[in-house]
Amino acid sequence: MSVISASICVVGAGPAGVVLALELARAGQDVVLVESGEQTPNERTQALGDADILNPRGHVAMNLATRRQIGGTSNTWGGRCVPYDPVDFDRRPYIPFSEWPLGYDEIAGYFDRASRWFFTGKSAFSTTQIPHIKRKTLVPGLPDGDVLSSTLERWSLPTNFGRHYTKELGDTPGLRIACGLTCVEVLTDPEGRVVTGLRCRRLDGSEVRLDAKQYVLACGGLETTRLLLASRSVVPQGLGNQSGMLGRFYMGHISGKIATIAFETPACDTKYAYERDAEGVYVRHRLSFSQEALNREQLPNIVGWLANPEIRNPEHGSGVLSFAYLALSSPLFGKRFISEGIRQAAIGDGPRIVWPHLRNILGDLAATLVFIPTFGYSRFLTRRKAPGFFVRSRSNRYPLHYHAEQVPNPQSRVTLSDSRDALGLPRLVIDFKFSDQDVDGVVRAHALWDAHLRRHRCGQIDYSPGDVRERIWAQAADGYHQAGTTRMSRRPEDGVVDENLRVHGMTNLHVASGSAFVTSGQANTTFMIVAFSLRLADHLKKTLAG
Ligand SMILES: Cc1cc2nc3c(=O)[nH]c(=O)nc-3n(C[C@H](O)[C@H](O)[C@H](O)COP(=O)(O)OP(=O)(O)OC[C@H]3O[C@@H](n4cnc5c(N)ncnc54)[C@H](O)[C@@H]3O)c2cc1C
Repeated sequence: MSVISASICVVGAGPAGVVLALELARAGQDVVLVESGEQTPNERTQALGDADILNPRGHVAMNLATRRQIGGTSNTWGGRCVPYDPVDFDRRPYIPFSEWPLGYDEIAGYFDRASRWFFTGKSAFSTTQIPHIKRKTLVPGLPDGDVLSSTLERWSLPTNFGRHYTKELGDTPGLRIACGLTCVEVLTDPEGRVVTGLRCRRLDGSEVRLDAKQYVLACGGLETTRLLLASRSVVPQGLGNQSGMLGRFYMGHISGKIATIAFETPACDTKYAYERDAEGVYVRHRLSFSQEALNREQLPNIVGWLANPEIRNPEHGSGVLSFAYLALSSPLFGKRFISEGIRQAAIGDGPRIVWPHLRNILGDLAATLVFIPTFGYSRFLTRRKAPGFFVRSRSNRYPLHYHAEQVPNPQSRVTLSDSRDALGLPRLVIDFKFSDQDVDGVVRAHALWDAHLRRHRCGQIDYSPGDVRERIWAQAADGYHQAGTTRMSRRPEDGVVDENLRVHGMTNLHVASGSAFVTSGQANTTFMIVAFSLRLADHLKKTLAG
């Protein structure tokens, strides 16, 4: 068996692992970055992450949710960058198990540095911080109050951490990458306190051992958890699982559409589309709540943004939307445009609809012909790609897409299956569960958004037909944002890792992953994963210097 030695071993070359490895190597450390995948995707490697999903309607298949390749899932992600809010770090009595071992201020200092890794300019997430954006709110006459519409999401290139950092990964002195190598066990001393090495395998069956002083697992939310659960030669319940919390509290986000906003303000004034800040970064308004309102209403954190009508349904009458549907659903080249998970969500289920969409295109030919080259250029030919497109609604009515916190729930969990992958590692069983509290939060948020719009005579919310709760349950699904299964805690009996992401009870094993997040907030996970990786890098630099 061959052996690779280094000061620090980072497992997984997704955004978390790439940032951590480069930060440490730039600081003069001797780092080895171990990655299961290679530069290009490979079906056999990808299949190593397949899992048994108990509720496939509520959780996407793992080959859509993750990517085993250098750059990890950033090879397929959308690129939306949003930080958590201060409220997410508060211990909120109305959100069970919401206690973080650190406060917002201890991580917010990393947002500017994280933004640089994503190429998202300044970490300004409100129009009030961007003089360049003149209209501060979504529509005129809608002030910020309990409801805010000045908050923004920012978009990265979308930054593919494999592609954008390949050269630096290869050129940075002190950094070595071992790809095509999958870690199958974390080895420890007989007490299970000190990691003594990593057992890794290649698909050809050969084994490699890694020796380092410090180890970081950055394998993505679920794979990091799986590796800890499966490293049970010394500690039968899995490393860091003295609390029984390892694998529990699996969270993502509850999202979907149950309503349309009908604005009463001038249609030409609605900020429905992307804007660009002074640095050219795409930004977009969202509806959110003030911290006071969330606490007073005891509401899980939630945001909403204006959406296009479903592109599949030709009743929208738009040539542009019909063209997008036909392009994305094309059996010949539909898969080339966007990642498969996003594509499937956009085109919906059922047989391909052709003639009504062609009629829309012919009836709306001028707009469609302008759209094709304009969007094609901004999406496919520029470095900073347009994240998507939005069609103005002449009637000033827009579907509202909500994206909300999933409340921590110990019953939503992953465990090890009896079946194994090609390298002998037990597969995961995923039992991902939403709760009534998640659904209730979505219902109440809509009522509050509606009241705010009406109070300021800016419009109202019109619900789509059918029982609202049933519709929310029917759409509740995730798997893309993997949080919670190695949760942070101050005390070992409450979680898996401490506030410095060190596995409780162990001296030299850390986790860099969304799996350490205690709550899921309203934000997609990756921006915060990178912010926490930077914090961990600083911590490890100090530890190794000491
Ligand atoms: C379609 C889609 C759209 C998304 N859009 C967004 C978005 O707009 N905004 C956002 O914030 N997030 C988005 N996400 C989520 C985002 O991609 C993830 O949050 C992010 O990639 C997580 O980074 P990571 O480094 O923790 O894990 P990953 O990116 O999953 O990387 C983990 C790496 O570890 C490797 N690995 C796993 N196990 C092992 C092992 N045992 N040994 C060695 N290597 C291993 C894997 O091969 C992989 O390269 C999206 C995800 C998908 C699928």
